[in-house]
Amino acid sequence: MSITRKLATKQQRALEILIRLKRLYPDATCTLNYETPVQLLVATILSAQCTDERVNQVTPELFRRFPDAEAIANADLTELESLVRSTGFYRNKAKNIQGACRLIVEKFRGKVPKRMEQLLELPGVARKTANVVSAHAYGIYHGVTVDTHVKRLSNRLGLTEHQDPIRIERDLITLLPQPDWENWSIRLIYHGRAICTARKPACHACALADLCPSANLGSIE
Ligand code: SF4
Repeated sequence: MSITRKLATKQQRALEILIRLKRLYPDATCTLNYETPVQLLVATILSAQCTDERVNQVTPELFRRFPDAEAIANADLTELESLVRSTGFYRNKAKNIQGACRLIVEKFRGKVPKRMEQLLELPGVARKTANVVSAHAYGIYHGVTVDTHVKRLSNRLGLTEHQDPIRIERDLITLLPQPDWENWSIRLIYHGRAICTARKPACHACALADLCPSANLGSIE
């Protein structure tokens, strides 16, 4: 009997996948560089549609000039734009970073709030960013970060049938232990980049193949 049949329930499969992902990517962590929750928030906003490597090239000078929420709130917007320009969508990102920092100063005494509904009040912050920031800055797990890799792999692994990130997140939080919600996403992103790519999943080399209902597809799209 195959292990897919033996581990019949979705939850059992999810937990076994989690164990294997931990073995495969033991050091998986947030790859953005930051020293404070505000800096993590800023770096995460900048990482939309951009690589973490690129963000890490930009933030040393950005945080040297404007190290905290108050400094960013009072910064000259044109200077902010030019500092974040290479991350793409720089006008929008600079506006959101400044808007978020102004609200943090005015409403949250200069500190990134911890509650999900407060985080979602900040310009440029949707659930994905809020999950990343609260998990890595405070060790608080509100939910599972669902980006394009997590969406694709969770579907291929048969852990959700949804395409909408909020519904995928709802499915995943019922399957995984809360302390693993964030590291699940990071490890799935690693696996999505290394093995289960969008165009050509390397099922023959995948350590999850015996747990994956899509494994026999070999090549998708
Ligand atoms: S077996 Fe194939 S489809 Fe399934 S997770 Fe691995 S690479 Fe992706």
